Amino acid sequence: MEFGFTSEQEMLRKSAREFAEAEIRPRVRDMDETGKVPMDILDKMAKLGFMGVMIPREYGGLEMGHIARTIVLEEIGRVSAAMANTLQITHLGISPIVTDGTEDQKRRWLPMLARGEKLSTFAVTEPTGGSDVLGIQTTAKREGDEYVINGRKCFISNSHLAGVLGILAKTGEGPKGLTTFVVQSDSPGFRPGREENKFGLRGANTGELILENCRVPKENVLGKEGDGLRIALGTISNVGRPGINAAALGTIRSCLEEAVRYSKQRVLYGKPISELQAVQWNLTDIYMDYEASRLLTYYSAWLRDKGERCDAENAMAKFCATEAAVRCAKKTIDIFGAYGCMMEFAPQRLLRDAELFISGAGTSEIMRLVMIRKVLTLA
Ligand SMILES: Cc1cc2nc3c(=O)[nH]c(=O)nc-3n(C[C@H](O)[C@H](O)[C@H](O)COP(=O)(O)OP(=O)(O)OC[C@H]3O[C@@H](n4cnc5c(N)ncnc54)[C@H](O)[C@@H]3O)c2cc1C
Repeated sequence: MEFGFTSEQEMLRKSAREFAEAEIRPRVRDMDETGKVPMDILDKMAKLGFMGVMIPREYGGLEMGHIARTIVLEEIGRVSAAMANTLQITHLGISPIVTDGTEDQKRRWLPMLARGEKLSTFAVTEPTGGSDVLGIQTTAKREGDEYVINGRKCFISNSHLAGVLGILAKTGEGPKGLTTFVVQSDSPGFRPGREENKFGLRGANTGELILENCRVPKENVLGKEGDGLRIALGTISNVGRPGINAAALGTIRSCLEEAVRYSKQRVLYGKPISELQAVQWNLTDIYMDYEASRLLTYYSAWLRDKGERCDAENAMAKFCATEAAVRCAKKTIDIFGAYGCMMEFAPQRLLRDAELFISGAGTSEIMRLVMIRKVLTLA
């Protein structure tokens, strides 16, 4: 067994950490207050290659794989969960073009996505409920050499920013009746709708997509007509969940550092509260949650880099890391006392951000449903 990182991966972590501290940290408060996405930071992330961390080199990416992606997202997420979310969702939109795109599709979209000229996303969720993928209502009807898409997506990350979007629509009935399309935001009939005002991940954009007689060429189908469910579920499992897991890991790391630092500074009864045993227990609990989530998150990324199927492992890591992020943020607030409830201090933001990781890419109940398929094969 090998638990270490390569020197290349360590260098990537160092550069992601330095970037997050220098460029993102000074802007976090403003993002939280205004909810605005700092586009200039995204441009700088693209220049470092973070958008294309998993895009093959021949299409302009770094081709460093899932562990490398996890490292970047953990480090960005340690400083800003919102920026990590924007980045990981762009990876989510890119991934099905890499896995299922034709050579033409790859040449058309991947280089511009790697350069950060366009952001991306993958849109499945509709008002009929994100957990019920087969219940979506958006339709795509073939008319000559085009498809005409009609429907409405909700709670979509990067809804108002993405230029190249993966859209799941119905082309028939049942599991084989779904198809994934690449839709460009300048397509006729496409527009972002309402922009959500969230209590967490502020500074990351979430909102509706409206498709009204949106016309896309038949060349924009990913894979074949009817491949949509496979592509959507694979993308969400292999890229969506791990992306959130890595960002949540960053949040837990941030809780750990905030809680340790504060408890060593805050003096009660003539000594730092880090010497009170009850506070120490909370600190060790946060530390355990960090290490357990870290092991599961990097383990599933390692499996993915080896090309192994790891739906249950991704789901387990998602359940553990996101639930732990909420738990650790709450403990950090408790350690801070009243200061933890004040907007000037980070813990309340960490809790608000962590809560939004729970439903993205499937709720904790859905993670249990994914895991049970493997669990029942174990004896
Ligand atoms: C910040 C954020 C970003 C997001 N970004 C995207 C995005 O980019 N693209 C995208 O497509 N979607 C996105 N989503 C939507 C997300 O995928 C959905 O919120 C999620 O799938 C849950 O769907 P829902 O919110 O409609 O809840 P519902 O599906 O309505 O579920 C409601 C409740 O019922 C429970 N439930 C549902 N089914 C079962 C079951 N079988 N057994 C037990 N309990 C069940 C759920 O766990 C939940 O508690 C995002 C969400 C958030 C919060």
